[in-house]
Amino acid sequence: MRVGVLALQGAFIEHEKILKELGCETIQVRKKEQLEEIDGLIIPGGESTTIGKLMEEFELAEGIKKRAKEGMPVFGTCAGLILIANDIFECSQPRLGLMNIVAHRNAFGRQVDSFETDLDVKGLGDQPLRAVFIRAPYIKEAGEGVDVLAMHDDKIVLARQGNIMAAAFHPELTDDTRIHSMFIDLIEESLNSQQSSAK
Ligand code: GLN
Repeated sequence: MRVGVLALQGAFIEHEKILKELGCETIQVRKKEQLEEIDGLIIPGGESTTIGKLMEEFELAEGIKKRAKEGMPVFGTCAGLILIANDIFECSQPRLGLMNIVAHRNAFGRQVDSFETDLDVKGLGDQPLRAVFIRAPYIKEAGEGVDVLAMHDDKIVLARQGNIMAAAFHPELTDDTRIHSMFIDLIEESLNSQQSSAK
């Protein structure tokens, strides 16, 4: 399994490290041709306006949309969540529109720009997940087809819609690899379904 990490700006190296620990081959994606060589893509945290602009400049946006439509799993974390949303609250910045959610940028307020907390995550059993939030967004609205996987203070912070996953926090900044494993399971699912439809 080969997992791409969009490497235009932000925390891509940390994601790669965890993916490698979990046994995946990884690629730092900067060119549109590379999108054809990967089985899944992580869009990391960073600055969503910058990543969005660079994605268009490097002509990656169309390719990512095409591969996501074909069923390739895409996981957006923090700024990545904003970029995969259909809508961004009171914002017209570029986005991919892969998930039926409204993202709210910098939504936890200035006084708590960054914080850590324990989350109960659907599908991960009783052991809470330590989550790091850095000038994080949250999911203000989740539309049809979106499965809410975790909340913090009544706000949606982890969700999945088919082959697309979004986290408001930074799962690459703790030692807990369960969220990356969840994404790898999604990639495995999609590879298996491609295999069975090719038979
Ligand atoms: N505040 C950033 C943005 O709006 C996201 C922060 C992050 O990715 N840690 O793009």
